Amino acid sequence: MIKKFTVIGAGTMGHGIAELAAIAGYDVWVNDISDEILLNARNKIAWSLSKLKKQEALERIHFTTNQEEALKDTDFMVEAVIEDIKVKSQVFNKASKLVSETAVLASNTSSIPISEIAKAVDRQERVIGMHFFNPPVLMPLVEIIRGEKTSEETVRIALDVAKNMGKETILINKDIPGFLVTRIMFRVNEVGCWLLDNKMAEVKDIDYTAIQVLQFPMGVFLLQDYVGLDVSYLIQKALIERGFEVYYCKSFEQKYNSKEFGMKSGKGFYTYK
Ligand code: NAD
Repeated sequence: MIKKFTVIGAGTMGHGIAELAAIAGYDVWVNDISDEILLNARNKIAWSLSKLKKQEALERIHFTTNQEEALKDTDFMVEAVIEDIKVKSQVFNKASKLVSETAVLASNTSSIPISEIAKAVDRQERVIGMHFFNPPVLMPLVEIIRGEKTSEETVRIALDVAKNMGKETILINKDIPGFLVTRIMFRVNEVGCWLLDNKMAEVKDIDYTAIQVLQFPMGVFLLQDYVGLDVSYLIQKALIERGFEVYYCKSFEQKYNSKEFGMKSGKGFYTYK
C-alpha cells in the first residue's frame, strides 16, 4: 500500500513526475536543493494542473529542501536528480536509511545501469528504473528497467504505479547503458550531430528532414533543446563512459560549456524569448 510518495529533484522531470503522482492520489513529497527551485516547480505544477482542471491535486504535494523529511518512512521514491552516478548514489544511500521497510526506490536515469545505482543501498532488490519522458504528464510511456537484483515484487509495484498514473509501460530485462529508448535516441542524435559537427548540414535542415521525411513529431535538435543540453551532454558522457559506442557530439559539448542549455536557458540550438 503506497501512501507517501517522494520525488527527489524538482527540475524538468521531477516536477512533472510529482504532478503525475499527485493526480494519481498519492501524498507527494518533493525535495530539491533550494526554495527557489521548489517555488518554480510549484508554479509550473499549479499552471499545468489548472489546464488539466485538476487543481485539487496541488494540495497533496509538499515541497521541502529537507531531504530527510521527504524520505522519512516513504513508500515509493523516484529520484530525478542530475545524471551523475555520484549524486544519484548519495541520494539512494540516504534513502535506504530512511524509507519504509517495503519501499521501492526508483531512478529516472536515462542512461546509467540500475544495478550500478543499486550498489548504494542495502536492499538492492527494491531498486528499479522508471524512465519517464518529457513532459511526464503528457507522454504516454514509462520504460521500466529491471536491475540485476530487482525482485518480482518491486517490478509488480512499479508497473502498478505507472498504471495508476495512466501510463503505458515497456519492461526492459537487460540492464544495459541507455536501456532501449535512450539508445535509439542517441543513434538518431549521432547522425544529426555528425552532419552538424562536420558542417555537412544546418540544424534547421536536419530538423526539417526528421519531421517531413521521417515523420518525427519534433526535430532532432529541437528535441535536445527541450530535453536540456546540459542533460543531453551528461547522458552522452555517461553512455560513452559505460562502453556504448556512439559518436561524441562536439556540438553538445560546446553548448554545455557555453551554458546554452536550450529552452531552460533561453538559447540552445534555437533561441527562445
Ligand atoms: P534538471 O537539471 O532539470 O533537474 C535536476 C534537479 O535535481 C535540479 O533541480 C537540481 O537542483 C536537483 N538536484 C541535484 N542534486 C540534488 C540533490 N542532491 N538532492 C536534491 N535535488 C538535487 O534535470 P532533468 O532534466 O529533470 O533530469 C533529471 C533526471 O531525469 C536525469 O537522470 C535525466 O537523465 C533524466 N531524464 C531527463 C529527461 C529530460 O527530457 N530532461 C527525460 C527522461 C529522463
